[in-house]
Amino acid sequence: MKALITGGAGFIGSHLSERLLQCGHEVGIIDNLSTGSIDNVLHLKSKPGFSYVIDTIDNESLLAEWIDRCDVVFHLAAAVGVKLIVERPVHTIETNVHGTEVVLKHANKKKKLVVLASTSEVYGKSTDVPFREGADLVLGATVKHRWAYACSKLLDEFLALAYWKERKLPVVIARLFNTVGPRQTGQYGMVLPTFVRQALSGQPITVFGDGRQSRSFTYVGDVVDALIGLTQEPKAVGEVFNIGNTTEVTIGELAERVKTLTGSDSVIQYVPYDQAYEAGFEDMPRRVPDISKINALIGFQPKLELDDIIRSVIEFARSN
Ligand code: UDP
Repeated sequence: MKALITGGAGFIGSHLSERLLQCGHEVGIIDNLSTGSIDNVLHLKSKPGFSYVIDTIDNESLLAEWIDRCDVVFHLAAAVGVKLIVERPVHTIETNVHGTEVVLKHANKKKKLVVLASTSEVYGKSTDVPFREGADLVLGATVKHRWAYACSKLLDEFLALAYWKERKLPVVIARLFNTVGPRQTGQYGMVLPTFVRQALSGQPITVFGDGRQSRSFTYVGDVVDALIGLTQEPKAVGEVFNIGNTTEVTIGELAERVKTLTGSDSVIQYVPYDQAYEAGFEDMPRRVPDISKINALIGFQPKLELDDIIRSVIEFARSN
């Protein structure tokens, strides 16, 4: 197939490009390098079947042309990272809502399959763990900027599902849980690359809150396999899927594991949320996916476990 990846020079987009090319597909990417980096795809530039353009998806005539040339659009371009979202809520909402609007509008003209990258953040403060796709979503008040991200992505989901219902545009929605691996930067707040960088440079490892909040981390290679797998299954159309690893770890424990696996002397430092983000910041206490739906449909089961994932991130950080 010919795939177009918006946000293809980002962390997940670059791994998706790589895997699609390995499987013999053609890949085009559009990226404005806002949070992505050309370095992520430099090694792909000479590969047959790879093309890229550095531009924003707001350039609608260009976007329409690139969509015309592909069979499937992976829409990954978005504002991501809790730190970025809290600092730049206007940018977050506009990028996420408008970006998806234009992608769906142009994909609809020739009914090209769209895989929309959504997020586990949409489950919000729900304590009904593990999270199932059909569950109620529990967001905080609108004065807490963090929730703007979940809300913008929810609007994207609603719009994509509306296009399917009303206009028969084939869409698949993927709710990605904390995805980690080489090339992810800690610049926008992501915890694992931040901890690894701190540990390797002997700086304090900064655990926000009391460290008892938990996440389940998925290796990026497992995530991109799931995204590709969903495009091969017609029954995925019009559906929402969790993509994640069900192994849960607290952030305090993650800091300990990073410290051990790097052999670092760094101290683990606890930082109150209001200092780390903003006054009144609300975190998600737990975030674990129920992956029975995607497992039943395409047999998805994450392969890499946490220590191996951490090792891959350490190796990447050391070599950079
Ligand atoms: N976190 C932390 N220290 C950091 C960055 C993040 O303790 O330097 C915490 C953050 O408060 C959250 C968890 O790690 O509880 C995961 O944060 P991340 O931003 O990676 O993703 P989130 O799951 O919040 O979207």
